[in-house]
Order: sequence, then C-alpha cells, then structure tokens
Amino acid sequence: MDEVKRIKGCQQFLALRMGVDFPIEEKIARASGIYARLGRRLLEDETIMRLLKDYRLAIDTSWETMRGVGIVRECTVCAVEDGGSCCGKGIEDKFDVVLLLVNLLMGCRLPKVRFSSDGCWFLGEKGCTIIARHVICVNYLCKRLYRKIALEQIQRVQWAMAQETDLAFLLEERIKEWLLGRGNR
Ligand code: SF4
Ligand code: SF4
Repeated sequence: MDEVKRIKGCQQFLALRMGVDFPIEEKIARASGIYARLGRRLLEDETIMRLLKDYRLAIDTSWETMRGVGIVRECTVCAVEDGGSCCGKGIEDKFDVVLLLVNLLMGCRLPKVRFSSDGCWFLGEKGCTIIARHVICVNYLCKRLYRKIALEQIQRVQWAMAQETDLAFLLEERIKEWLLGRGNR
C-alpha cells in the first residue's frame, strides 16, 4: 500500500513539474484533471483561499496601476494601430501545470485552441484571456513603454508587479505542498 502511495506521489510530482518540455494541450489536460478531482478540496484549504484572495487583489492592483500610468492605453495603441504585440507564439510553453491550475481555481477557463496562429495560446481577440499570468508576462515592459512613461510611474508599476509575482510564488508553493503532501487521491 505504501509503495502504491509512493508511486502515485511520484506521478503527481512529475505532473506538477511539467514545464517547457511538454505541449500546452497536455499541461492543460493535466491541470484540468487535477482541478476536477481535487479543486473543491483545494479551495477548502484556508491558506490557499487567503493566498488566492490576496493574489487576486494584487493582480487587480497591477492592472489598475498600469491603467493609471497609461501603459494599458499605450499597449492597446501598439497592438491595434501599430501591429505590435509581445504575446508571441511559444510563451505558453513557459507555463507549468500549477500555474494553469491556479487559473482554474480562480474561475478562469483555459482556451482549448489557439486563437491567433502566431500568438500565445492564451491570446484572445481582446488580449490576454487568463487571470494568473507567467512572471515573464507580468514583468515585461518594452523600450516603447520606457520611452513613453515617466520613470517614477514605471517604478510604481514595478512595485505592484513585485507584489503580484511574490504572491503567485507563495500560492503555487502552497498548492504544490498541499498536493504532494496528500498524494494523488
Ligand atoms: S509591452 Fe510594448 S510591445 Fe508589448 S504591447 Fe505594450 S507597447 Fe507593445
Ligand atoms: S500576457 Fe497572456 S497572452 Fe500575453 S504572452 Fe502572457 S499569457 Fe500569453
């Protein structure tokens, strides 16, 4: 029995470690499977619930701050009028199963197909379709933004981004701990 538990624990560990070497469809399927089986119980964990709430607030604050300093406007002009975008195909490969699971726990639906042939899997008609983005998406500020936005405003945004990515890290670690501690039930 202990051996069965150990093997199941190893399988769970390998599933959670699915990162850049695995196709996004496979990672989404794994995350969806874990969510279907354990999502309700994960959401009953007080620490996970608190971190999810704090993380959501931090994400909202990041977007509010980016809107406030003009980054959202600048990115919209860049994408709609100038044909620019930094959400290229392949960025989805950076995601692992846990970050996809976080999106599901936050009530976000993960796209089943790619909307734009040369865009990130999560890019939709009106921009990013997920709530919990990868740290490389959150932290990215291009040269155009550094040129157009005052440095002190950029620093405000970076502070908000740091809160968001710190909370993402704490939440993901707690979810891994919960899943690995309890095995693949
Ligand atoms: S970050 Fe830069 S490249 Fe990306 S959409 Fe905004 S302005 Fe355009
Ligand atoms: S912001 Fe969203 S759409 Fe853009 S690269 Fe990141 S996950 Fe993909």
